[in-house]
Amino acid sequence: MIKAKYHPDTASGWLSGREILKRGYFNGELSPLNLLAHTCCHEFAHLLQHSAGQRFRGSVHNRHFYAILDELHDSGGAEATRQALAKRADEQNLTLPEMPFELPDPHQKRTHWQVGQAIYFGNASKEFHGEIVRVNRKTCTVDGTGKSRGTRYRVPMQMLRKTHGDD
Ligand SMILES: [Zn+2]
Repeated sequence: MIKAKYHPDTASGWLSGREILKRGYFNGELSPLNLLAHTCCHEFAHLLQHSAGQRFRGSVHNRHFYAILDELHDSGGAEATRQALAKRADEQNLTLPEMPFELPDPHQKRTHWQVGQAIYFGNASKEFHGEIVRVNRKTCTVDGTGKSRGTRYRVPMQMLRKTHGDD
């Protein structure tokens, strides 16, 4: 479990990872230190939930649970846990990185793109359409189509979106 939480690919798959992201705990930053600290809080919240008689079969992560978990974060308890963990790890020369992960983004993968693909990029107020003419290491070379015809762009992969398709 701990090993999986060190890996960006698997870290966000854990409920504790999703809670950090969705509920904005620790500023929504996924790092090994934050994940382990939050896991302690998550489990401790179950203990409090259980002793309050609010743990029910089939609804373990219920609103009672999240009220307790939110309170642990709001009260500074979670932050104290985080600091205590960091201190203990440091004393024992363990590395417990505070650096946030860079989460995998399929749009940044070269294999996600191919020559001839229709794409668009830009934002809601100005969208550019084009076709990929070359896949580079971190960018794609794009020939504009439609209103952008006649212009060639070099677009970072994370900005590209497929014109057809569900992602
Ligand atoms: Zn749980």
